[in-house]
Amino acid sequence: MTTLEQEPRSAERGEPLVVLEGVQKHFGALHALKDIDLTVTRGEVVVVIGPSGSGKSTLCRAINRLETIDAGKISLDGKDLPQEGKALAALRAEVGMVFQSFNLFAHKTILENVTLGPIKVRGLKKDEAEKKARELLDRVGVEHQADKYPAQLSGGQQQRVAIARALAMEPKVMLFDEPTSALDPEMIKEVLDVMVDLAKQGMTMVVVTHEMGFARTAADRVVFMADGAIVEEGTPEQFFTNPSSDRAKDFLGKIL
Ligand code: ADP
Ligand code: MG
Repeated sequence: MTTLEQEPRSAERGEPLVVLEGVQKHFGALHALKDIDLTVTRGEVVVVIGPSGSGKSTLCRAINRLETIDAGKISLDGKDLPQEGKALAALRAEVGMVFQSFNLFAHKTILENVTLGPIKVRGLKKDEAEKKARELLDRVGVEHQADKYPAQLSGGQQQRVAIARALAMEPKVMLFDEPTSALDPEMIKEVLDVMVDLAKQGMTMVVVTHEMGFARTAADRVVFMADGAIVEEGTPEQFFTNPSSDRAKDFLGKIL
């Protein structure tokens, strides 16, 4: 491929984007993350699965420093994650996060929810931010809800707005922590469809989910956690048809 302007080397698909090395986290006596080594490359979709309490949320929260770590290193696009201050805010803006609960601002319209970050953090002008927000709301299929308030939308619509809001910051990576767990069954698919689209468009994603259909079809890699450690990882094909650890076999036996 020839292009006039050479993309920086770090922008290539397959380059390390999120790198965790020897990450440790304790909550008092509880060892919540045990020596985690994980590299997520640009454009990769990593699905993290494992029993409740295995450290999946803590891992996500550590990646954007909602949680401090006790030891080890986390870097994003070659830069170490700072512990605090302006540098942290800037770096955090590069990591989009979507939680189980939608966390939209209840007293702001859908459009305002999506424009707030770009205006405040990225310094976009209001009309620019709104134009972009409308495009994103269109992309997640809620363009007609822009002037409504979150409570007027279904859970599935709210979660799609939460995804649009995260995308509005143009993050380098998107973290999803059980984004469909709080949704009624009929709304799960509409959210997963948006995530599958994002994955196809090359977004780097770390997805904690119990949706094994999504893991099978969208994941480049499945990471299985138990008791704060990464117990095994592999392609969905390897993991689902031939898991190597007893913990994973046991887990899959219960959920499949
Ligand atoms: P998962 O998302 O896989 O269900 P979590 O990362 O939420 O697991 O939790 C891992 C372990 O850490 C659990 O035992 C949980 O109770 C504990 N934990 C998580 N957050 C805190 C906290 N803020 N304070 C104390 N313990 C916590
Ligand atoms: Mg969790």
